[in-house]
Amino acid sequence: MRYSGLKVLLEGLKGQTGWKPVWRQSEPKKHYDFIIIGGGGHGLATAYYLSEIYGQSNIAVLEKGWIGGGNVGRNTTIIRSNYLLDGNEPFYEFSLKLWENLEQDLNYNAMVSQRGIYNIYHSDAQRDAFRRRGNAMRFNGADAELLDASQLRECFPYLDYENARFPIQGALHQPRGGTVRHDAVAWGYARAADANGVDIIQNCEVTGFKIGNGKILGLETSKGFIGAGKVASCVAGSSSRVMAMAGLRLPIESHVLQAFVTEGLKPLIDSVITFGAGHFYVSQSDKGGLVFGGDLDGYNSYAQRGNLPVIEDVAEGGMALMPMIGRARLLRSWGGIMDMSMDGSPIIDRTPVEGLYFNGGWCYGGFKATPASGYAYAHLLATDTPHETANAYRLDRFRTGALIDEKGVGAQPNLH
Ligand SMILES: Cc1cc2nc3c(=O)[nH]c(=O)nc-3n(C[C@H](O)[C@H](O)[C@H](O)COP(=O)(O)OP(=O)(O)OC[C@H]3O[C@@H](n4cnc5c(N)ncnc54)[C@H](O)[C@@H]3O)c2cc1C
Repeated sequence: MRYSGLKVLLEGLKGQTGWKPVWRQSEPKKHYDFIIIGGGGHGLATAYYLSEIYGQSNIAVLEKGWIGGGNVGRNTTIIRSNYLLDGNEPFYEFSLKLWENLEQDLNYNAMVSQRGIYNIYHSDAQRDAFRRRGNAMRFNGADAELLDASQLRECFPYLDYENARFPIQGALHQPRGGTVRHDAVAWGYARAADANGVDIIQNCEVTGFKIGNGKILGLETSKGFIGAGKVASCVAGSSSRVMAMAGLRLPIESHVLQAFVTEGLKPLIDSVITFGAGHFYVSQSDKGGLVFGGDLDGYNSYAQRGNLPVIEDVAEGGMALMPMIGRARLLRSWGGIMDMSMDGSPIIDRTPVEGLYFNGGWCYGGFKATPASGYAYAHLLATDTPHETANAYRLDRFRTGALIDEKGVGAQPNLH
């Protein structure tokens, strides 16, 4: 069924009786050519591109909970491609280009909003670092411009420019960055993959791997054994636990990241703004809530909830940037499990087990990567060669030392 304005009008006249479920409730078959573990944004995008671009049809996505229940429905919805390093920038720019056509490709309204992102800088050194990053972006075909404080004041008069500790000097602006309605991304990919014949199986937890002679044979699940030609793990914060079942130890730690939303307010922030002197980022949802977040909770955890000290820290960041935010009442907070890699960059690669593939280590930034991650992972699964934009995301870089340390903080996953 194609969605369109005309369809909405006709259904209104027919009492909304013609809509169909967005995807089928599938039960597992005995065997699939490809099984994707994890029905988050990345798993569903992989299934979609594998069927759409690479012509595969015998595919299942196994999700232990429900579609949209993981990080894909918990993030602060920010998309951008403002990276410095060559290993990263072409991949995130490819992702941004896929976002730009996503709704037409999927025939689904994901509310892609290229409202722009402003990274605020507070010192001469930070300005120079942002200028370097902006130049690297432009070398890679992305858009970037450096603004000074007077230009920024015209956009955001309510920021605390004269803050004694963190005076605002300007911002690196990426006009094509923005936000996307996160759960609609999961639903849109699920619907499009289902239409291509992919079986999406919810409430189906993978509990073990069957491996014979170093080759993947299938998966033990809460719905019984399912045979597979190739298995692709794509479980974000659960990566270490799932891959441990296959006997693999990953260069990944799991940490909690919280996010927050205020009561609905009149239109106030028409872009995404990030604080440069601490960790705080904010945008305004279409319902009017200010959506914001900050740092990790600072300890390893698989719990999808956080603690009060970080709430205080995030609130302090917000107050230093825009004191008027202190008058908004907080409506909700929640947490998600982040798969923090040792260099802050992701992994999309084969594993030592033949037919078993791994996608993870997305840290804070995996939502914006969803389309490119799915595309590159599908390419790897179908062709057994890395996609040209994901060449550097090799598992063995932690052995060879070819790290992609975007922030230059070393092997400190909690700092990336
Ligand atoms: C609070 C917060 C804010 C964030 N903000 C941003 C942001 O603004 N911009 C950005 O780019 N990124 C952001 N991120 C990061 C981003 O959300 C994640 O990197 C990305 O969503 C991870 O990929 P995913 O969507 O596939 O993960 P998930 O949606 O978590 O998908 C993984 C799925 O695997 C399933 N699973 C796990 N174990 C098993 C098993 N054994 N069997 C079957 N299924 C299993 C889980 O149930 C889950 O549904 C944020 C994350 C959080 C938590």
